[in-house]
Amino acid sequence: MNHSEKSMDTIIAYTKRKGFVYQGSEIYDGLAGVYDFGPHGAVLLNNLKDYFRKKTVQEKRDFFEIDSAMFKNPAVWDASGHTSGFSDPLADCRVCQNRIRVDKELEKVGIEADEKMTDKEINTLFDSKRDEIKCYKCGSTDFSEARSFNLLVKSNLGDFTAEGSDPVYLPGEACQGIYLNYKNVVDSLHPKIPFGIAQIGKAFRNEISPRQFLFRTREFEQADTQYFVKPGTNKDHFDKIRQERFDWYLDLGVNKDNLQWSQHDNLVFYASDAWDIEYNYPSYGYDEVEGVHDRTDYDLSQHTKHSGVDLSFNDNGEKFIPYIIETSMGMGRLFLAVLSEAYDEEEVGTEEKSDVRVVLRLKPFLSPVQIAILPLMKKDGLSEMALDIYRELNSQFRCTYDESGSVGKRYRRADEVGTKWCVTVDYESKEDATVTVRERDSMEQVRMPISELDNYFTEQIKQSYT
Ligand SMILES: [Zn+2]
Repeated sequence: MNHSEKSMDTIIAYTKRKGFVYQGSEIYDGLAGVYDFGPHGAVLLNNLKDYFRKKTVQEKRDFFEIDSAMFKNPAVWDASGHTSGFSDPLADCRVCQNRIRVDKELEKVGIEADEKMTDKEINTLFDSKRDEIKCYKCGSTDFSEARSFNLLVKSNLGDFTAEGSDPVYLPGEACQGIYLNYKNVVDSLHPKIPFGIAQIGKAFRNEISPRQFLFRTREFEQADTQYFVKPGTNKDHFDKIRQERFDWYLDLGVNKDNLQWSQHDNLVFYASDAWDIEYNYPSYGYDEVEGVHDRTDYDLSQHTKHSGVDLSFNDNGEKFIPYIIETSMGMGRLFLAVLSEAYDEEEVGTEEKSDVRVVLRLKPFLSPVQIAILPLMKKDGLSEMALDIYRELNSQFRCTYDESGSVGKRYRRADEVGTKWCVTVDYESKEDATVTVRERDSMEQVRMPISELDNYFTEQIKQSYT
């Protein structure tokens, strides 16, 4: 099917039906903006993370991965600007008490607004459009003034007093853990500059109206890299990193035609340049999956100032605060992009009888299941033979064993979750130790000795990385 024919509703229903994504706390009517990954989804998510580690850390000589704690000293979020500047402008409907995000509502009526504006700026715009902005619940246009609501999620960790002190927040973004450990990494591993630190970590935002499935959630994961460079060299590194990050999506099998760059018009005051990689999500259209930012020396300068610890780098006697090129990808957004890209419905019927197969065209290194092993019949020792092959291959590849229903039905089940190959054991197998290997996308079948399966799949998966 064409990409333009795909709909997010279909994909959301598919992810639930096939065990990729479930609404969080579903048996209790769910919790808005929170999702759980099911058996197939968890494997796909982990495969995406593994590939991120492979490309950004393992294949580089100048990159390290860390895993920082989520709880951080409250002072971190003052230094990062999150306690003061991390907010959405909200207004209350005076009729039904529903809350709206004023900047988003202004955008819908053609006014450029964003969450970085002051309350005064937002309210001036809001007042000019009051007749046009209606409550999406009750239709009223009677709203309070817009006020900023902080997006940080508080915890009560260590709060044993009635009044409380500074709350310990859950991370508003994962990357702060990298800045906090920059000095530790320098002191313990003595990297030369430039060098990078990567991290996959959770982040939380008190979104007023989480929506668009995995696209905007209250709990999410970010895969970040921070590249520490000498001031003045940042532009060159920035261009190179931008190219690398774009290529990453092509390596995952995303079509170039569904990706685009978008440069930020309104840069935050310290940033030197910022671009987003946008994916053409079914039903939603182009939106950000990853940001690439030239953040100058802002982050380490802020933490130097607030912590009192000198975070400058000593490069053979020359001291400076490194500039940072940041890449930050939303794992949920990546997951949704890769799944949307791979999802396909294909007409495979005849003139008399139409038939559609759902097939997830994932590269085999990403597929939750790589190989399905199917005995033609359960009897005559075929099951035993197939189970032997399953046990042998399953130590190296992600395999499943399926003996229920017709072979045709089993092929469909395999296609639907992206299984790249089906190995069928039949009566001939008992005679000459060969099996049929069917490939998912072409549906072509070849006969192959059982002894060659291991090498064949190893080679095919290796090739799929490029
Ligand atoms: Zn209302």
